[in-house]
Amino acid sequence: MAAHQEKKLAEERKHKTMQNGTKASQGQWGRAWEVDWFSLASILFLLMFAPLIVYYFIMSCAQYQCSLTEPLLDLLTSSKHLSDIWNRTPMLTCRAAGIYSLWVTFQVVLYMSIPDFCHKFLPGYVGGVQEGAVTPAGVVNKYEINGLQAWIITHVLWFANASFLHFFSPTIIFDNWIPLLWCANILGYAVSTFAMIKGYFFPTNAKDCKFTGNFFYDYMMGIEFNPRIGKWFDFKLFFNGRPGIVAWTLINLSFAAKQQELYGEVTNSMILVNVLQGIYVLDFFWNEAWYLKTIDICHDHFGWYLGWGDCVWLPYLYTLQGLYLVYHPVQLCTAHAVGVLTLGLLGYYIFRATNHQKDLFRRTNGACRIWGKRPQYIECSYTSVDGAKYYSKLLTSGFWGWARHFNYTGDLMGSLAYCLACGFGHILPYFYIIYMSILLTHRCVRDEHRCSSKYGKDWDRYTAAVPYRLLPGVF
Ligand code: NDP
Repeated sequence: MAAHQEKKLAEERKHKTMQNGTKASQGQWGRAWEVDWFSLASILFLLMFAPLIVYYFIMSCAQYQCSLTEPLLDLLTSSKHLSDIWNRTPMLTCRAAGIYSLWVTFQVVLYMSIPDFCHKFLPGYVGGVQEGAVTPAGVVNKYEINGLQAWIITHVLWFANASFLHFFSPTIIFDNWIPLLWCANILGYAVSTFAMIKGYFFPTNAKDCKFTGNFFYDYMMGIEFNPRIGKWFDFKLFFNGRPGIVAWTLINLSFAAKQQELYGEVTNSMILVNVLQGIYVLDFFWNEAWYLKTIDICHDHFGWYLGWGDCVWLPYLYTLQGLYLVYHPVQLCTAHAVGVLTLGLLGYYIFRATNHQKDLFRRTNGACRIWGKRPQYIECSYTSVDGAKYYSKLLTSGFWGWARHFNYTGDLMGSLAYCLACGFGHILPYFYIIYMSILLTHRCVRDEHRCSSKYGKDWDRYTAAVPYRLLPGVF
């Protein structure tokens, strides 16, 4: 079995590394070959508690008006037992299973059967068949970029239904929110388990598999780098982008429809959340080709972290603001609303401009202008597992001269804006900024660890030239 051979090779490589006394050789970028105790403990914690955290948040809204402390107090003071809470939780229903199956099938059909037509008439949009980055084994995968059209078709149908078809209520997502959670979990676990089995027995590219020998780590962080079914069904591109991110804006629209149904109006805070998150989602699909060069596709293997995360964590926890506003319809004063909008748009601008600078710089191989000047950069090289040497460049001007991850800083500003739109009544809508701060700080560290093992001394020269990560002069 090819995957078993690769596993054996990995063990030999590990042995060699220890003999040489070096930590990580070049060409070994991507996720870890060895698991330290801290990583293992974090992974076990997440595997056990992440599904509970999602349930806790959603249940708090459904049963406690989004208070995160009251369920705990009830349990601690024995006013309620776990069974009381559980008994009031809606179970999986046939209706939810039907809606969810139809939803995922529809997204698979849009992904697989309709080649991109948006790039033919939208100036500046990059769609159709595009190439990803070089994988550690030296492979360059091709992707059908058609997420924007999937998003447009889905939303046109949604609005057609809400306006005149009336096949289903626009509150359908809110009304089935917890039963749909069980469906999303089933898919999340099924796809992660399938990816693990596939990695062992029929990987798409055995040379791009990683085995640490630790079952939990491999399950969580994935074995295969780019699992595929057939030539085009790419697990990472599909599960990262759709069904979760296409659903994000529909979920928010459903929450807005519920506000309208319950209170006879949609508050300005709900509109702000819909608009700011809508811009973020649309940006994702407009730049889907760029997304092929991000860490998710270029470095992460496909396991529970991406599989379950995309099916459950993202649609349920990234939409908490809209859910909260159904239970607490906050109407913001003009100054507050304008402040939130300004922060959100400024954050988005920084996020997009920073990502655009890197993308332009990499696409043109440095033959471009950043803020009207020729870019400054550091030349670097790395080696893939087959020993081939590659050359690359690290940009040190524009936003990339301010900090090594200023795109994350813009993202965090936008995230804070969504939370501030919900006022200051509860902590629950602020979960997003807390989570994003942890995620992106951890991502900085993870990415830099990888880049350091990929580029070696060249990376040290880069960090000396751009010493801060997120905030110039601070961190
Ligand atoms: P980046 O787009 O910053 O990509 C990091 C990679 O870019 C590095 O691994 C390296 O890859 C390359 N690179 C690093 N520094 C430079 C440089 N100076 N010049 C040129 N290339 C460089 O990170 P992500 O992929 O994590 O994030 C992409 C965007 O997605 C970010 O804006 C982030 O905020 C957002 N995001 C949002 C999330 C969400 O849940 N909402 C989650 C994660 C990300 P190489 O090997 O090619 O050199």
